Amino acid sequence: MKFFVCLTLCYLNSQLDAIEDAKLSVMTKVTQYGMGIFGGIRGYLQEDKKSISIFRLQDHYHRFLKSLKIINKSIPYSHKELVDITIKLAKKNNPKTDTYIRPFAYADSLDVSPNFVHCGFNFALYMIPMGEYLPIHKGLNLSISSWTRITDNVIPARAKISGGYVNSALAKSDATAQGFDDTLMMSQDGHIAEASAANFFLVRDNHLITPPRYQDVLEGITRRTIFELAKGLNIPVLEHPIDRTEVYIADEAFLSGTGVQVAWISQVDNRKIGDGKIGPISQKIQNLFFNIVRAKVEKYKHWLTKI
Ligand code: PMP
Repeated sequence: MKFFVCLTLCYLNSQLDAIEDAKLSVMTKVTQYGMGIFGGIRGYLQEDKKSISIFRLQDHYHRFLKSLKIINKSIPYSHKELVDITIKLAKKNNPKTDTYIRPFAYADSLDVSPNFVHCGFNFALYMIPMGEYLPIHKGLNLSISSWTRITDNVIPARAKISGGYVNSALAKSDATAQGFDDTLMMSQDGHIAEASAANFFLVRDNHLITPPRYQDVLEGITRRTIFELAKGLNIPVLEHPIDRTEVYIADEAFLSGTGVQVAWISQVDNRKIGDGKIGPISQKIQNLFFNIVRAKVEKYKHWLTKI
């Protein structure tokens, strides 16, 4: 995979570096303990094939800063500076493909204590080309994981904490090894939380249903986008705890996320969802989403930052 130039901003001394020069010691707390916060933002190639538009850039940095607040750390960049740095990097790289942008705030202290107090935090940002993360047209085949989703008093799923993704990796690895595309994890109370890196929606009786924010889920920006799209399409959205068997009898289901985008689900635990084909509501939402990110819908152009 070809990497673009990477912008690495050091704590005191901001600078633009080639990705090969953006090195991190094996001794840091982020490499040893996963003490970092990351983000994932998509830039979509536009029709002219010359420019990209970054989707909900401001919202991604609001969440990024909230994740830092949860671990009680800060970086010396304001929300506006982070947005500006990202635009600067994207302009510099001038990508000609769909692009994935990763901000990263991380503990670069070398002492051995797993402690955020008196611990230096640094910021880096890179971008790579990225197409589909999971298939969006074939219908996903999911399992329900035997791994429990990390809970708020363990590692908050609400924050994008690097170390928390070991939970996702355990679940996703089992699913992959068993031939599934991904997996749904349950919270400690036995209700569906989310997939390894995506939020979950099902459709029953023309209602969209998704686990509530207190169900150990990341408060996804795509999840919030779906809420707004559903409102515009007059589809009611309910947030309530979802039993495993409610998934089995759903009419439709899909995953949402920056990487995943909107990807419909054909099977869960070897049971067909609906008739195993994409349903009308998933199709409508998926079409609208992709038209929006390619800047074809005037009403939602304010979500795009053109580079
Ligand atoms: N849940 C998890 C665990 C994720 O990693 C992601 C991807 N960021 C999501 C949900 C979807 O969030 P978003 O729509 O903000 O990308």
